[in-house]
Amino acid sequence: MKHSKVLIIGSGPAGYTAAIYTARAMLKPMMVQGTQPGGQLTITTDVENYPGFGDVIQGPWLMEQMQQQAKSVGTDIITDMIKSVDFGQRPFTAVGESGETYTADSVISTGAQARWLGIDSEKKFNGYGVSACATCDGFFFKDKTVLVVGGGNSAVEEALYLTNIASKVYLVHRRDSLRAEKILQDRLFSNPKVEVIWNSQIEEVIGNDDPLNVTGVKLKNTKDDFGLGTATVDVDGVFIAIGHDPATQIFKGQIEMDDENYIITRPDSTETNIPGVYAAGDVKDKTYRQAVTAAGMGCMAALEAEKYLAAKESLMKILGINCMNHDASMSVVDYSSGIGEVLWAAHAERYSKVKMIITLIGQ
Ligand SMILES: Cc1cc2nc3c(=O)[nH]c(=O)nc-3n(C[C@H](O)[C@H](O)[C@H](O)COP(=O)(O)OP(=O)(O)OC[C@H]3O[C@@H](n4cnc5c(N)ncnc54)[C@H](O)[C@@H]3O)c2cc1C
Repeated sequence: MKHSKVLIIGSGPAGYTAAIYTARAMLKPMMVQGTQPGGQLTITTDVENYPGFGDVIQGPWLMEQMQQQAKSVGTDIITDMIKSVDFGQRPFTAVGESGETYTADSVISTGAQARWLGIDSEKKFNGYGVSACATCDGFFFKDKTVLVVGGGNSAVEEALYLTNIASKVYLVHRRDSLRAEKILQDRLFSNPKVEVIWNSQIEEVIGNDDPLNVTGVKLKNTKDDFGLGTATVDVDGVFIAIGHDPATQIFKGQIEMDDENYIITRPDSTETNIPGVYAAGDVKDKTYRQAVTAAGMGCMAALEAEKYLAAKESLMKILGINCMNHDASMSVVDYSSGIGEVLWAAHAERYSKVKMIITLIGQ
């Protein structure tokens, strides 16, 4: 069993930033990296919108740098995948696929995955003309022809965004109508750069091998019951916009989530409904989905966790309880306003449901 004051689940920009901040606050965080060390940026190539670099940098390189920085300030980086958590008791527990149990006084959770079509050629050209993020990679297709796959709000928004950059935007949808909101559809249909290809799906992304780049897609008609064939469309870039899956499977039934399984946090905060548990980056964000916003939220989560742990420690001192007594169960509510409300449960025999309010300013 491994214990730390802070457990960080996931090693994307949010996780590493949270690690850097909590390590520098002497909280000795442990980070469980998951099956994709470095997160989503490791599956892309050029990154041009992360501030601080005069030249275009590579996604995997950026994540290696973040890992090194987190490690050098004292993060315990662990190769494992969390398969279950128990937030119903304190300290919180998480069990890894390795069989190891991790316990922590606070938890920061991060991460999501873009959904992909799952075809081999999509994988081959990923980062070389195939992307799942128009905001991130659209710029590379200035005055070129691109194709967006999907029929929901995200797909239409991505297609509209790309019309500002590309010369022509195809939207390919496997049905004969879109799920996107009417207002978005109106904007899409009235844009002269857009052409919608209905009842179609990508069978293959085609392109060159040296250097790797996309030249077109082979489309299959979804209503072609007789297998009459495919059509090829010449494009320079393909954007898959069929949704994202936040990495929240392990939190089901324990943390409040919305109907798309994104973790719900308090406004302007990373606090979840469980005091001491924070959510940062794409695990809670379906609006911005950027490395820099994820990193920003990782910073917020670290500062909030730090404040929570400091408040908890102060209160335990006041109550005369050993901070390391993990049987203790405590909720700290609204300490951000400077007032901490503490409901003490585990030491009921000693404090018999003590409910106290103390001012935390200056502690
Ligand atoms: C193709 C592509 C290109 C992109 N390009 C750019 C770009 O150029 N610029 C930009 O700003 N953004 C870009 N993005 C978006 C950016 O990658 C994300 O917004 C960002 O990575 C989100 O960071 P995150 O910290 O929330 O976690 P993610 O990067 O989503 O990382 C999730 C982490 O959680 C871990 N994890 C998941 N489940 C578990 C578990 N049960 N136990 C332990 N660990 C777990 C994973 O292993 C992973 O390390 C791109 C995204 C994609 C898909």
